[in-house]
Parts: sequence; C-alpha cells; structure tokens
Amino acid sequence: MPGDIPEIGIVLQGGMYNGVMRALKLLGLADVWGATRVPLHVLNVTYPLVDADLVAFCATKKAVLVVEEGQPEFIEQALNTILRRADVQARIHGKGALPMAGEYTATVLIDGIRAFIAAAMPALLDEMTPPPDARPLLASETVQALAPVVPPRPPSFCTGCPERPIFSAMTLVQKELGPHHIAADIGCHLFSINPPFNLGTTTMGYGLGASSAAAFQVKAKKRSISVMGDGGFWHNGLLNGVGNAVFNKHDGVVVLVDNHYSAATGGQDILSSRADNATRSTQHPIEDAVKGVGAKWVRRIDRTYDVAKMRDTLHEALTTEEAGPKIIIASSECMLNRQRREKPLFNAAVKRGERMVKPRFGVDEDICTGDHACIRLSGCPSLSVKDSGDPLKEDPVAAIDNSCVGCGNCGEVSEAAVLCPSFYRADIVHNPSGWDRFVSGIRTAVIGWLQRRRDTNRLALA
Ligand code: SF4
Ligand code: SF4
Repeated sequence: MPGDIPEIGIVLQGGMYNGVMRALKLLGLADVWGATRVPLHVLNVTYPLVDADLVAFCATKKAVLVVEEGQPEFIEQALNTILRRADVQARIHGKGALPMAGEYTATVLIDGIRAFIAAAMPALLDEMTPPPDARPLLASETVQALAPVVPPRPPSFCTGCPERPIFSAMTLVQKELGPHHIAADIGCHLFSINPPFNLGTTTMGYGLGASSAAAFQVKAKKRSISVMGDGGFWHNGLLNGVGNAVFNKHDGVVVLVDNHYSAATGGQDILSSRADNATRSTQHPIEDAVKGVGAKWVRRIDRTYDVAKMRDTLHEALTTEEAGPKIIIASSECMLNRQRREKPLFNAAVKRGERMVKPRFGVDEDICTGDHACIRLSGCPSLSVKDSGDPLKEDPVAAIDNSCVGCGNCGEVSEAAVLCPSFYRADIVHNPSGWDRFVSGIRTAVIGWLQRRRDTNRLALA
C-alpha cells in the first residue's frame, strides 16, 4: 500500500494489518478507510518470502519497520539477509522498537511505531497527533478504587454454548475424584481455562490437546484428561493425538468437542459438519475416524446439555479398568451458528402469524438461597444477581436476564449437582391459539388464588 512518505515503510504480517492501521490512525498517519501515509508491505503469507517484492518495496527507503509477532524474529532476520544480498541499504527496525514477546495490541503498536519514527525520521513526530492513552486513567485513584468492587469479566463461552456443560460436568467429576491433569487446546473450549471453570493445565497448539498430554498418559492412579475441538481434531489431532494414543497404548481420556463447525474461526464447515455443502464433502462422523485408527473405548454424547450424562461418562472414562485411550465425543451444535441459522426462520414464522414457542429459563427468587453455585458452575452470561427484596435474605438472589437463549444448561447443572430447585422453564408462545389462551386463563386463575391464599398467611413486617 503506497503512502506519501517514501523515506520509510512498514513490512507486516497479514494478521497485524488491523492493529497497525489502528495505531497509524491514532497517530494521525492513516484514516479509517485504509489510506495510510506510511507505505505498507502486507505479507499475505509469511513463508516463503518473495525476495523481489521486498527488495522493490525497500529499495528507495531509508528505514523499514518489521511488525512480526512471536519470537525469534524470523522475518526480520530473513529481510536483513535479502536486502544485504541485493545491496539495499534500508535500515531494518523490528524487535527493539517493538517487544520481543507478547501480543501486539494497538497500544504496543503505537509505542513501537512511534519509537521507529523517532529513530528513523524524527521530523515526522511534529506532524503526528498524540494518541489517546488509557494508562494514566487506569492508574488513577478513582479507577483503582473500583478494582476490588467490579468483578473482572474474562472472555468466555457465548450464551447457551454447548461446551459450557462439558466443563460443568468436568468440574463436578473433579469434585468427586480430585484434580486431574487437563491438557487444553486451541478453540472455543479454551475459555474453560478462565473463571468460573479454571480448568486446563497446559495448552500447546491447535489440535495438540491429546499429544501435548502424551507424557502424562501412562498408567497412573489418576488419568490425564485432554480436550480437542473438532477443527483441531481434523487439522492434525486424529493422527498425532488419537492415533498416537492408540499406538502407544495410552491410558488417558480424550474429550473431542464436536460442535459441528470450526466455530471459533467463524463457523466454517469441516469433515464432520452436519450441513450439506455443495462444494465440500461433509457428514463424516468423528466416531468412525477414531475407531478407524483403532480406538476401542469410544462414547458419543449427542446432547452436551445433559450434564448428568456428561458427568457419568467422564467418571466412567476416568475409572474404567479397560486399557487404551478413552475417547468421549461430546456433540452439540455451536449456539452462535445455531442462532444465526434459526433466528431468521423463527422471526419470519412469527411474522407470518404461525404459533411459535420460545423456551426461557428463570429463577424463583423465593426459593433461591443466594449461594450462587449455579453461576459458579455454569458461568452463563445471562445469569446475574439482583436484590431479593426480602429483609431476611441478605445475599442477592440469582436472576436470568433477557439474553437467555433457553439452552437449559443452568437447570441441568443444578439438577446434576443437586443444587436447588429454583430454576423453572417458561415457554413464550407467539401467536397463541384459542386453546393456549384458555389454558393460560385457567393457570392464571389457579396461581392467582394460591398466591392470594399464601399472602393472607404471610407475616407482615412493619
Ligand atoms: S462460537 Fe459456538 S462453540 Fe464457540 S463459544 Fe460461541 S457458542 Fe460456543
Ligand atoms: S440462563 Fe440458563 S437457559 Fe438461559 S442461556 Fe444461560 S444457561 Fe442457557
């Protein structure tokens, strides 16, 4: 991408583009539409590098910044070699202006680009705008005083995610059998390492859940658990995870999270997707694949929201006498993709005047004791707390807000953990029939009568 400052330029990994553009915009060197004053050479792929393109980009420049996440600085080293061999004298900046490790957020990039410009073209500093800096505000007394009060909100599963109950079940099993080594993997299920689950001891790479636990999969009093998503499984986990575990007679438990898509990257189809795809071959069950490489102990759970079944299956896998890897395929459709698919159809049917039913869950605040075990065990963002209004109950009671998608996980968790009977399900009926109205009238009358009778027996406090 050309710019009007030909003396300098930035060579960057493709994935860094948005961050670099944001930093340049905040420094007054780019606009929101992608026009930049500093020329950019965006690497669509980082290997192999195209020497001629890089030489052409750098030939007229005094200095070039390499924006490359990760270490060591492979691209920076290669670029130095390419340019020196071509006798191009542009000075290369990279690690130094930018940190060697850690994520290149917009704040890090702002500091790095500014340091590069200060070293390579200091006259340009006068033309730049001072970027907003949240750090002094975050360090201020007012904000610091909020820190102990406002609970942190780490990234987590979507509302209604079918993966949440898997980790609720894992938590319940560990309560009974004690902590196990859990190898996590890349994908949505990695949110399990955050509160409220705090599961996952190691994470090595995409599709490497089972193989990263290989060293722990020996016969021991406690079996290790490893988790892999369906995307990672098809990427490489089938061979280096499951095949390796079968070949080496491993004794661990491998949980394969089958949510029907490569969900974390946007819902692309994969081999085991249930959808018909005109240009791809789908509907190849994970179960067939793992049995194909020799796994014998294989269980499939077709509704991960069944927390009790999930818990019992995990318990069996961790305690069975059977040798070899224990494979659990936990399968339910990604809620984000399901909502994208079903919501427009549902809304269209309501518009047409069809009778449609939407389940919602709620908490009976009279029964809720306010111990919030449901929140700790499910972590659903729709679960919140509110004042009970009861002077005898000091703790706030649990409450479910309008973002609930009716997956039923909170109720299932409560039942599996024998928590409490506070959860109820209510069906919201759109375009109700005459029968619906009749039944609703009877219910309202009976419940109203019971409520009035209870109120007359209630002790009233002044
Ligand atoms: S994208 Fe799908 S699988 Fe991932 S957290 Fe959201 S609902 Fe769960
Ligand atoms: S509140 Fe319960 S039913 Fe509603 S989305 Fe959350 S877990 Fe599912």
